[in-house]
Amino acid sequence: MADRSFLDWPFFEQRHRDWADRLDTWCAKNLPVDHSDVDAACRDLVARLGEAGFLKPTAVDTANPGPLDVRTLCLTRETLARHDGLADFAFAMQGLGTGAISLFGTPEQQQWLDRTRAGKALSAFALSEPRSGSDVANMDMAATRDGGDYVLSGEKTWISNGGIADLYTVFARTGEAPGARGISAFLVPADTPGLEVAERLDVIAPHPLARLAFNDVRVPASAMIGKPGDGFKIAMSVLDVFRSTVGAAALGFARRALDETLDRAGSRELFGAPLFDLQMVQGHIAEMALDIDAAALLIYRAAWTKDMGAPRVTREAAMAKLFATDRAQEVIDKAVQIHGGDGVRRGHIVESLYREIRALRIYEGASDVQKVVIARQTMK
Ligand SMILES: Cc1cc2nc3c(=O)[nH]c(=O)nc-3n(C[C@H](O)[C@H](O)[C@H](O)COP(=O)(O)OP(=O)(O)OC[C@H]3O[C@@H](n4cnc5c(N)ncnc54)[C@H](O)[C@@H]3O)c2cc1C
Repeated sequence: MADRSFLDWPFFEQRHRDWADRLDTWCAKNLPVDHSDVDAACRDLVARLGEAGFLKPTAVDTANPGPLDVRTLCLTRETLARHDGLADFAFAMQGLGTGAISLFGTPEQQQWLDRTRAGKALSAFALSEPRSGSDVANMDMAATRDGGDYVLSGEKTWISNGGIADLYTVFARTGEAPGARGISAFLVPADTPGLEVAERLDVIAPHPLARLAFNDVRVPASAMIGKPGDGFKIAMSVLDVFRSTVGAAALGFARRALDETLDRAGSRELFGAPLFDLQMVQGHIAEMALDIDAAALLIYRAAWTKDMGAPRVTREAAMAKLFATDRAQEVIDKAVQIHGGDGVRRGHIVESLYREIRALRIYEGASDVQKVVIARQTMK
């Protein structure tokens, strides 16, 4: 049973505790799902999470608009990740894919949110390109004005939900200025002619992922999210909300790894006593628990600060993401070690956690990039 004492921390209100309890109960009944067909599993997860009401925090409620609640987003990701990485992924993409629309969309664009919050439409966030991952401002994809339309041409890669999403938030160069100040954001429905899946990408913890080709994709000027040239600022604002939630997913994986380790160390007999009794094992367990609590403190500090109205939490979110993802890797590695041979057996839960955690240290800003961000903020 996962340690839930952190829910008593003053970062949370009673509604957060109730939400986490309800979600945990739902997860225990419904997760994990079969991962053999990730597309079908993700569509089904989104539909079921939506039906149960658990996608509501991912986007603005158009009937009752208010800021996104980052603590709820983090609690949801950590709970889902503890039960099933694919469920966390399905939830996270509904938020990341629509974040720009929640924060900067027109009322017409925000009509999509009623569908994504209900699990009736899937969304994706298309920022990265083959030449510009960490170096976002170097993107090539162009959006050229043509009368009342924009015509998008180029490629996006590493797009989660690529191929199964109903709508894409796409960033493209509109050329108001060189570099970061010449990028704009667009809402592109998946069925827009010219938008094609060029390649499906297979990774160590499989989920729907694709390289997309934009072959003269024509959208009306009203598809632009925010103002011309604001795309980079919009992308950074979205990441400012969602970056801490990547840390929260890592935290969920780490908590699961510790739970599995405690079960294993209590039940496995070695040298005539439970594994628990070996002090070196106790040392590992102490370090795992310490990393988990420290990560949780950084994550919920960032989330609470944002929820209290801070315009930006660049430093707090970077610290939360960097620490939680890097330390979760260590925690899970220790879990694998303590499980011995079983830890590397395909299909074992700690083996899958070992694969799941790795990409979190790369996407939404690699660990090294977070260090640069923290250093810049500290030296300001
Ligand atoms: C599983 C997965 C899902 C993804 N989903 C999405 C998605 O939905 N939408 C989307 O737009 N993108 C997505 N991405 C792309 C992701 O954001 C990029 O992979 C990431 O930004 C790194 O870019 P890159 O792969 O081009 O690596 P590069 O930019 O080539 O960077 C390689 C490495 O260089 C180092 N590095 C980079 N910059 C610095 C620096 N300033 N200082 C020091 N070291 C540095 C880091 O170690 C980094 O990992 C996803 C990626 C993965 C793996």
